[in-house]
Amino acid sequence: MCILLTGLFNYLKIIPFCFTYFLLNFSFFGASKQDVPDKQADYNPAKSRYHPVNDACWTNGQMVPYLAVARTFEMIEDESARLKNIETLSNLLRSVICLSPGDLLPCIYLCLNRLGPAYEGLELGIGETILMKAVAQATGRQLDKIKAEAQEKGDLGLVAESSRSNQRTMFTPPKLTVTSVFNKLKEIAKMTGNASMNKKIDIIKGLFVACRCSEARYIARSLGGKLRIGLAELSVLAAIAQAVCLTPPGQEFPPAVIDASKGMSTEAKKAWIEEHALILKQTFCELPNYDAVIPALLKHGIKELPQHCHLTPGVPLKPMLAHPTKGVTEVLKRFEEAAFTCEYKYDGERAQVHILENGEVHIYSRNQESNTSKYPDIISRIPKVKKDSVKTCIIDSEAVAWDPQKKQIQPFQILTTRKRKDVEASEIKVQVCVYAFDMLYLNGESLVREPFSRRRQLLRESFQEVEGEFMFATYMDTSNTDEISEFLDQSIKDSCEGLMVKTLDQNATYEIAKRSHNWLKLKKDYLDGVGDTLDLVVIGAYLGKGKRTGKYGGFLLASYDEESEEYQTICKIGTGFTDEDLENHYNFLKDYVIDGPRSYYRWDSAAQPDHWFEPMQVWEVKCADLSISPVHKAAVGLVEDEKGISLRFPRFLRIRDDKKPEEATNSYQVL
Ligand code: ATP
Repeated sequence: MCILLTGLFNYLKIIPFCFTYFLLNFSFFGASKQDVPDKQADYNPAKSRYHPVNDACWTNGQMVPYLAVARTFEMIEDESARLKNIETLSNLLRSVICLSPGDLLPCIYLCLNRLGPAYEGLELGIGETILMKAVAQATGRQLDKIKAEAQEKGDLGLVAESSRSNQRTMFTPPKLTVTSVFNKLKEIAKMTGNASMNKKIDIIKGLFVACRCSEARYIARSLGGKLRIGLAELSVLAAIAQAVCLTPPGQEFPPAVIDASKGMSTEAKKAWIEEHALILKQTFCELPNYDAVIPALLKHGIKELPQHCHLTPGVPLKPMLAHPTKGVTEVLKRFEEAAFTCEYKYDGERAQVHILENGEVHIYSRNQESNTSKYPDIISRIPKVKKDSVKTCIIDSEAVAWDPQKKQIQPFQILTTRKRKDVEASEIKVQVCVYAFDMLYLNGESLVREPFSRRRQLLRESFQEVEGEFMFATYMDTSNTDEISEFLDQSIKDSCEGLMVKTLDQNATYEIAKRSHNWLKLKKDYLDGVGDTLDLVVIGAYLGKGKRTGKYGGFLLASYDEESEEYQTICKIGTGFTDEDLENHYNFLKDYVIDGPRSYYRWDSAAQPDHWFEPMQVWEVKCADLSISPVHKAAVGLVEDEKGISLRFPRFLRIRDDKKPEEATNSYQVL
């Protein structure tokens, strides 16, 4: 007995020793690569003849491993061909649809690096400092080393990935799943205030500790709000459509239909998928909310989708946009026999006003972000200006700065001085007047397929004007050149930008999210013979000299090519900036410096900047002319095989906060 007890005592004595030994030599990290079952580490959604059940790296009813998504991102990042990337993503989604359909929604949000619809305002974008601290704490590495490496690699994601792969584990934390990662990202984004910093670091640390293979790379990038694998929303929509076409949702397991295109020729398959992709895209235009569209898609399939997803007050739509025209003669030529109307083009901020069934009023920006808390004054006047017959509706309008003393419109610049969020009605200094120009929805009925003449009539019947608060856009129905010219002059005297010319009856539906030929814009700038302004993305900068030392002296701008999803350089720009602009640009852009151009930048070494940036900001730029360029790449391939278009004498006008980089002027517009 005595011997036994002594033995036990000696045994217990060595436990703490062993534990300390482990602590010194191992970290509590996720499984290293050799521990990962090959099926997940080697998951290959880019495989040809992919089988959504046999080639998946998880089984029916299991939660989708985050590694499956990370592997998909790896493949997409390494490949530049858009169609191949759509196929790769669609393969992952096919597996999700067959095996774990409940995970489809978080999968899609992870691919888009979003946490929900934009108007809910829940955003990622954790500061680099917090991320670096979390990587340091999770890996036991020094913060300085992480910082230096991040600077050198220009991508904290890669640093997080390589930091963890050296680690060995004592205990294996549970593997990350798509749902667990998505929920944690949401939890982090919801935390506010300084006190939340440590809590955020703890959650991020917990994620990193559980990371395998490339997971840390994409988690770090997602947290930073810069996934940037070159996958635009249109490609994600195309991939969803392809997935549900090939492997229809709602099948019993094992699914009888694995590839519904079997037996079709390549062309037939392509046309068939495109036709269905169009249904999804159109539905998504009317109801741009994955929380509603994805469950409906899983339940009813793609063909039935339009019957279940409609325009809904409370869900902002992408606005209809106009084509620029050079003058009155061009307008007449374009519209030929069709009846049209000319409206004042107000210079303010687009405001989509939604009246919900419960009486709430929401206002959304051109970007579908909520401006409800920016305009409490507009909200409070809606009951006064709407007629009792209006229960629900969506109107399209422009919110314009208004001088109540002089009773006149004020320039756009005045509007920009207004606070952007959580405005108190009592503190408002800049008054706004809403100029309503369209109505898209009324009392449970979508009007987007109605001609403009009817929409305008319904708008005018449903609301009443109050001077300086809510007005209808001034218009004139005429096809007389002289009258149009006079009306244009008058619009400018009345502090507008020019005219919007719109078809009334033929081809006069509201085309959501489209730059349509049914709307033409005729700005006063065009009269100067200068042409429209362009909205361009800043992707690089040149260090300043002389007076501009310590700041950027010039910038490299790009337009966006929707087809190839590339940013194509269009000019260097160094004029139009005040000293304050230069200071602000430097302070903003320095946080988005990357170590080299993204794979989706199209540029020439003759324009190589000193610093490259993430595509973050859009600038409105005026120019004297356009020319074919051997250096710049805008609209390359459309104009000449190797040459693109560049701007002559570009001049900075202002930052376009209401446009995302993907909404910059595109190649066709440049062309
Ligand atoms: P775009 O919106 O075409 O990309 P942009 O944002 O630079 O270009 P403009 O070229 O100035 O804007 O023209 C379109 C904008 O004009 C609309 O988005 C809307 O905000 C504004 N607008 C003002 N008055 C009207 C009107 N009567 N009808 C339609 N839009 C109008």
